[in-house]
Amino acid sequence: MRIVVLAGGIGGARFLLGVRSYAREVGAEVTAVVNVGDDLLLHGLKVCPDLDSVLYTLGGGADPERGWGRAGESWTVKAELAAYGAEPTWFGLGDKDLATHLVRTTMLTAGYPLSQVTEAMAARWQPGVRLLPATDDRLETHAVVDLDGGRRAIHFQEWWVRYRADVPTDRFVFVGADAAEPAPGVREAIAAADVVLVAPSNPVVSIAPVLAVPGLREAVVEGPAPVVGVSPIIGGAPVRGMADRCLAVLGVECSAAGVGRLYGGRRDGGLLDGWLVAPEDAGVEVPGVTVRAVPLRMTDEAATAAMVRAALELV
Ligand code: GDP
Ligand code: CA
Repeated sequence: MRIVVLAGGIGGARFLLGVRSYAREVGAEVTAVVNVGDDLLLHGLKVCPDLDSVLYTLGGGADPERGWGRAGESWTVKAELAAYGAEPTWFGLGDKDLATHLVRTTMLTAGYPLSQVTEAMAARWQPGVRLLPATDDRLETHAVVDLDGGRRAIHFQEWWVRYRADVPTDRFVFVGADAAEPAPGVREAIAAADVVLVAPSNPVVSIAPVLAVPGLREAVVEGPAPVVGVSPIIGGAPVRGMADRCLAVLGVECSAAGVGRLYGGRRDGGLLDGWLVAPEDAGVEVPGVTVRAVPLRMTDEAATAAMVRAALELV
């Protein structure tokens, strides 16, 4: 069996732990198509927050409390940069993490596409699933905001980390998406999949930018594999993070029903055949979509693998 997972960072990474565990049990192959909309240049270095979260989590090197970055991290370089007054100061770059960005930037500068760089990094981290960036091209999520009396676009990371999503926001734009192409292997993986799973990642700024790559959404929606999504919203609130703020920008209710309807049923031109919601949200209906309520808290790998099993039983 072949499983493709559309994923963002922390929620995507935790979900992938369960997918990997399930896949080992049944002998399935897993390909994760990961969001690159959060990627940014900092101090001349290319940082890919979602790919890094997935690599570190699946590779056993993630900080379990913080959720992002490396376990046992130190912050010497960050302090030195601050001593120079080097902007931006709002993004946490740990010393261990920096090595990742140095290696990645060196390879990108030498001409390797992000997909090959990611593959090279996976040789160290052995994530146990195939990791593909959604695209090798530049695609950045920006928030169009009202700041200092004017309207402008700021990078999603600045919106999220610096402003804590607490600034009047008109919309999100996926800069570069028009000219982007799915990374090598993405279309093929989707076409060969037996099932496509949409991780309980942020629908607005993790899954939407993946689907914004021209041809990628079509590959999923018109492909042969059934598509099952897992709700990141339980009982009207995100399990962690600020997905509620992102949904509010779109005018979408922060609920399992709201997100399910945002994705929409495949029969009506949407994405989903199946939608997993938490027991708290039992009874939710999404037109054209089979909905099932199962525990959705990713407390450990076994609980998460059970979610994956339930997703596959749905289709
Ligand atoms: P990010 O890119 O690091 O922000 O991470 P993602 O977009 O992949 O995932 C963020 C989403 O994961 C948030 O909206 C959370 O609600 C969701 N999430 C985190 N933990 C859990 C969990 O245990 N269960 C479910 N269902 N969703 C979760
Ligand atoms: Ca992210």
